Amino acid sequence: MAGAPGPLRTYTLLGADRRSYRATEPGTLGGHRRGRLYGRLDCPSALRALARGGYRRHRVFFADEATALAAGYRPCAVCLPARYARWKANRETMEPS
Ligand SMILES: [Zn+2]
Repeated sequence: MAGAPGPLRTYTLLGADRRSYRATEPGTLGGHRRGRLYGRLDCPSALRALARGGYRRHRVFFADEATALAAGYRPCAVCLPARYARWKANRETMEPS
């Protein structure tokens, strides 16, 4: 009587608490775990790094931008320049360090 798992494949995404979880929908954003940055799945910078290798094991995915930000990731300056500028401006005004 165990319900069939069904044909749905699952995706490993990163949550706001930076723990991975399985989701039935693919992420909309990619990220780099060590660089703590996120960007578009077709980010030219990320694709170049993936092609070179070494990046893949640090690759993470987010369901949406709010989750990426909540996890402490910053927007990629290459593929999300407007968001990056906004993030940078916010950080400078909100986080005196
Ligand atoms: Zn990017």
